Amino acid sequence: MSKYGFVAVPIDSEAHLNGKKHINPPTAQHVDSLAIPTSEVAKKIQEYAKEELPLPTYNHSMRVFLYGLAIARDQFPDWNISPEVYFATCLLHDIGATPKNIEATKLSFEFYGGIIARDLVLEVTDSDQDFADAVCEAIIRHQDLGTVGNITRLGFLLQLTTILDNVGKNTGLIHHDTILAVNAAYPRHDWLKCFAHVIDSEYAHKPWAHTTALGVEQFKGDVLSNQVKYD
Ligand code: ZN
Repeated sequence: MSKYGFVAVPIDSEAHLNGKKHINPPTAQHVDSLAIPTSEVAKKIQEYAKEELPLPTYNHSMRVFLYGLAIARDQFPDWNISPEVYFATCLLHDIGATPKNIEATKLSFEFYGGIIARDLVLEVTDSDQDFADAVCEAIIRHQDLGTVGNITRLGFLLQLTTILDNVGKNTGLIHHDTILAVNAAYPRHDWLKCFAHVIDSEYAHKPWAHTTALGVEQFKGDVLSNQVKYD
């Protein structure tokens, strides 16, 4: 089950770090060494994401994938999450936040995205339910930030890396040269403003949405005041 990340870990990153910036010193990694999966399943999911996601969101999703491979390699070398499972999770984690999908449902974007992703993974994997459940669970919980309770390893890695790209947290887990290389490969296209717009758009359509648990104005402020130098 560790290939799908179904191992419970504390959701609180401090429980992993014990006051330190990292578990192991991060190493500078070339984008070429962070291999994108080339299986038929990975290709189908990548094609779907390319078609459905606006370019800034697609590039953000690819950055989150590459950061995660680098962080897992340096910080959690024994976790053994399948790169294909993490790739599907990253590419689909914001699928519920496209303009079309925000308007398609009353559900919060993470929940609707989880459902879309679960259906797609079942379809392209010939009904691998553990794969589909792993992706769905991680997507639904990816903005469930907190300090109490557990999450899957897959969900934890997705939280660490989305917050790294959006809010500039967790930079101690990854070498700055790796951040620069990933952002050169998949440019930001003013991502923070795009993401702040997505937060506003969802709130306008669904003022009950799950993102409000983070405080809409506070979370948007955290995104827009992110000072990390990505490129
Ligand atoms: Zn995201």
